[in-house]
Amino acid sequence: MTNPTTFRERLTWDLEKGEMRDGPVRYLLIRPDTLMGIFARLEPAERARALDAFKNSTIEHGRKSASRYQQMGNLDAEALFATIHATSPQLGWGRWTIERDGDLLNLTVRNSPFAADYEAKADRPICAPIAGMFTAVAGLATGRPMVADELECVALGASVCRFQARPAQA
Ligand SMILES: [Zn+2]
Repeated sequence: MTNPTTFRERLTWDLEKGEMRDGPVRYLLIRPDTLMGIFARLEPAERARALDAFKNSTIEHGRKSASRYQQMGNLDAEALFATIHATSPQLGWGRWTIERDGDLLNLTVRNSPFAADYEAKADRPICAPIAGMFTAVAGLATGRPMVADELECVALGASVCRFQARPAQA
């Protein structure tokens, strides 16, 4: 059994309530420059802590979405990756490609919305929610704790954003 519908097909609007949902999960549209402008306005040490918090929040909450995708379609690792590959563009989170390299997982993201129009001079990779979501997806797919980091970021001058997930230290 495969995922019966796509995220875009599941998304509904309730204009009376002023909300959009994927089933029980509420979503929000926000301009990326508005969102990322938070980080551009912080001092470097504050920015690092805020981006870590953004990543950790996405690990916790994004995992619920990835787990839901998995449960909707009884997805094995490859099918989960395929669902993430299909869903990311529909969310506006760029184009994701996940590849295995032994115990490691490599993710390439083209056109990350978090880095695309970053208004400040970045001092570190800034696509924290992608690193968080990749951490969650990698853990669910492999069935063990994984840690993902962004290695190269468009906000630092790279042509694409690259992430790597590795097994967490025991
Ligand atoms: Zn990036």
